[in-house]
Amino acid sequence: MTRVFNFSAGPSMLPEWVLKKASAEMLEYGSSGQSVMEMSHRSCDFMTIIQTCEQRLRRVMNIPDNYKVLFLQGGASLQFSMIPMNLLVKGKADVINTGLWSKKAMKELKKLGTCNLIASSEEAGFSYIPKTTKDQFDPEADYVYICENNTIYGTKYHQLPDTGAVPLVADLSSCILSEPIDVTQYGLIFAGAQKNMGPAGLTVVIIREDLIGKADEKTPSMLDYKTYADNDSMFNTPPTYAIYICGLVLQWLEEEIGGLDQMKTINEKKAALLYETLDQSKLFKAPVAKEDRSMMNITFVTGDAELDKKFVKEAEAAGLVNLKGHRSVGGMRASIYNAMPIEGVEKLTAFMRQFESENLK
Ligand SMILES: *Cc1c(COP(=O)(O)O)cnc(C)c1O
Repeated sequence: MTRVFNFSAGPSMLPEWVLKKASAEMLEYGSSGQSVMEMSHRSCDFMTIIQTCEQRLRRVMNIPDNYKVLFLQGGASLQFSMIPMNLLVKGKADVINTGLWSKKAMKELKKLGTCNLIASSEEAGFSYIPKTTKDQFDPEADYVYICENNTIYGTKYHQLPDTGAVPLVADLSSCILSEPIDVTQYGLIFAGAQKNMGPAGLTVVIIREDLIGKADEKTPSMLDYKTYADNDSMFNTPPTYAIYICGLVLQWLEEEIGGLDQMKTINEKKAALLYETLDQSKLFKAPVAKEDRSMMNITFVTGDAELDKKFVKEAEAAGLVNLKGHRSVGGMRASIYNAMPIEGVEKLTAFMRQFESENLK
């Protein structure tokens, strides 16, 4: 068996430590005589799994007591609707448009309330994060919405917008757990698990308590954060196996990596290796503004679509898979989430240099 280095934007690589532990526990979890997949979600064993997962997330991210952690389904995309359904009271929200995922959130917000576009980098192909000042935001808005790491383009907020007293709502799907963050800066954080937390099927919402319970009474129970908060995410059957794997990923982060400070150091090292290679290259170019570069998703192009195609194909043959850029932007994208080992980035950069020497005219 040869495992490839998988640069997919999501679902993406999981730590080998996690896969091996899950594999060892597949037929029998502990002394339960069954796999986690077969277990009642009301069983003692599963209750321990979900509680341990939440406690680990709280420890790793240093989540304050006045924030709830909710385990949901429906992907990050369902949050584009649940956020306005639950947070709109005055009926308007401010949004910064940094790409496809914020546009999708805007589309759903517009169905339920007023969407004020504060800034956008669309005119430049979303290659940077627009700068904003506090006076640009409406103090009467219910929230300000951002997509913190733009998976498709490879941009990231390195400084959060100053929204004053208006709660900041952020999509952290592709950067959660990549570095320490100050949770108190946000009203609501959400992330689909399939990038940095575990397998697809689980969405994590971290929400300040005072923002729960504002949904209109006509809101379906399953779309109301209060339902999940009041029932410890067990109103109905939660995605049990995905929660179990997420718990293992958090255990790996705590016990094998040593927490988010250490994770950040490793991620910085990986990203620096790839960006240095790009900055020194005469063939490859990184299209994103330097100060807004993402540590997780790194985009690059040769400027020649045929050559890009050749690169992706030859890389795949060398065991470096899923380097094709998002269909809306083309070129290449290397997603180097937490689980991508440094060896994968070393192999990629060596391959890039070899490809350059063979293809530079
Ligand atoms: C992947 C991704 C999404 C969509 O996630 P789904 O779980 O497929 O709905 C949304 N936002 C960002 C930033 C993403 O990277």
